[in-house]
Amino acid sequence: MPSQVNICGRPMEEFLLAVENFHGWKAPGVVMGGFMVDWAQEGLGSGIEADAIVETSHCLPDAVQLLTPCTFGNGWLKVLDWDKFALSLYDKKTLEGFRVWLDLEKAQAFADIYNWYMRLVPKTSLPLEVLLESILSAGRAILSCAPVRITALYGKKSKGDTAICAGCGEAYPSSQGDRCLACQGRGYYAKNGRPAVIGCQPSLNLRLRND
Ligand SMILES: [Zn+2]
Repeated sequence: MPSQVNICGRPMEEFLLAVENFHGWKAPGVVMGGFMVDWAQEGLGSGIEADAIVETSHCLPDAVQLLTPCTFGNGWLKVLDWDKFALSLYDKKTLEGFRVWLDLEKAQAFADIYNWYMRLVPKTSLPLEVLLESILSAGRAILSCAPVRITALYGKKSKGDTAICAGCGEAYPSSQGDRCLACQGRGYYAKNGRPAVIGCQPSLNLRLRND
């Protein structure tokens, strides 16, 4: 693999190792994401405090979290569920920045990458090492970068008021209603294999019924 290329100042080998440690494996999407973050950061220049918006929840957020101080948890990275392979880094003071995206017209010159991304070939017929090799040799040649001004989704999301849920006794945002979402039947879990009980002291009720 070519090691003369740097990703955000890191040698390629080091970046690939970091991807494996952070993401679990050398996912092609995270590696492509490295080139994207690298390009957007180069556009911004050094010394700019940047926030990030990523347009898919797959792979790309990890490239941003690996290479910038922006994480999902600190709120400097916003993740859109659009499933578009694109991201923007922008100056959090001026809201001016750069959007980088997978440019399909350019990617057509790299059949392995194009076919993989558009799911035109079964995964088994394209070994990971071959695909990674293509991505590394393509670099920015499959991407485009353009200046943008951010018009939404910037800044801190206000948390609003906190209340205590009458159903479960846990704290929740009062904007969700008079009970938390789980106690409104919109939860993702069951307690003790039973649906969450709505009412006061649900854990006590469950214990009595189990005894
Ligand atoms: Zn509740």
